[in-house]
Amino acid sequence: MLPYGRQSISEDDIQAVVDVLRGDWLTTGPAVAAFEKRLGEITGGHRAVTATSGTAALHMAYAAAGVTAGDVVISTPMTFIATTATASMLGARIVFADVEADTALIDPDAVDALVDESTRVIAAVDYAGHPADYDRLAASASRVGALVLDDAAHSIGSTYKGRPVGDLADITTLSFFPTKNLTTGEGGAVVARDPEIAQRAQEFHNIGLVRDPERFRVLGEGSWHQEVHEFGVNYRLTDIACALGLSQLSRLEAFKRRRAEITRRYDEALAGIDGVTTPVQRGDVDAMRHLYPVRILEGRRREVFDRMRELGVGVQVNYMPVYWHPVYADAGYRRGMCPNAEAFYQEELSLPIHPELTGSQVDQVVDALTEALR
Ligand SMILES: *Cc1c(COP(=O)(O)O)cnc(C)c1O
Repeated sequence: MLPYGRQSISEDDIQAVVDVLRGDWLTTGPAVAAFEKRLGEITGGHRAVTATSGTAALHMAYAAAGVTAGDVVISTPMTFIATTATASMLGARIVFADVEADTALIDPDAVDALVDESTRVIAAVDYAGHPADYDRLAASASRVGALVLDDAAHSIGSTYKGRPVGDLADITTLSFFPTKNLTTGEGGAVVARDPEIAQRAQEFHNIGLVRDPERFRVLGEGSWHQEVHEFGVNYRLTDIACALGLSQLSRLEAFKRRRAEITRRYDEALAGIDGVTTPVQRGDVDAMRHLYPVRILEGRRREVFDRMRELGVGVQVNYMPVYWHPVYADAGYRRGMCPNAEAFYQEELSLPIHPELTGSQVDQVVDALTEALR
């Protein structure tokens, strides 16, 4: 089966990991610091804090934003459930804004109609690698003193109006799962424009430990001392993983070029085929395409999905609207709430895309899709 996404591991990546295994630190050592520094540089010059997954990064981001019981988080249903589940677990009430019919990105008009004084965070997702419309989301957020969060699990390497992902929202979260734009095995990170929010994320992911003597409330202890002001967890990423991440980061531009080539090849090959439409891209965006989501028309998505799997092509569906999950349905969320997201879900099919997919494999996918649509 041709996978829809997978990692690309070079000999240099392997050597970087082996070097750590031969060294003195397996956990929080020089590779964590070096990876965080480089990540911060390419995401707008802000502080980056690594995490054990993209889900952990989202949990850290909401905790650092001060999200607590009763706060409202406005988000998109067209995402992986981790985007909202981590806020729900902190007691937030999620209000889903519908997506734009063409891009499947959170609709700034829908968000603007929903914000009020109880809104703490507007959480957008750069679906498929395409940044949302952050200038408009920021305008809505600033009206009510809310923060904007970019779940950039799909979009490290993309830009919006010339600015890199990481610099588009107050807080950005990344995932380094093997199918994402770069990998550390499991892994993720939080990038924050405000150093205080970054520091809160750092402390939350390290059991809440405060190490700055200026902030100590227990006084008179020796230089071993550290203390906890707010509970935290252990979401620390290892040196092993960060060495892989640092090595992968040096290949990010090459990964982006290859994903763009595959996108062009699909765009051209599928342009003339009836029954399928290709993804759109706004003019002010340079997307590092994580997914290639086509739409299968005339109610044929399930049939085409099954046929392509039979033909050895590992297509995927991204995503069932989040509020259809029983955990949200049980909490009273009803179908029909976000019609654009539901219509998109009925037709969406993700074709394989990853840096090691060859031209002839792309042609094989196109042939299988053509065959399935016959
Ligand atoms: C993958 C993903 C996550 C979660 O990342 P993990 O590293 O798998 O925990 C969150 N949001 C979106 C949109 C994702 O695609």
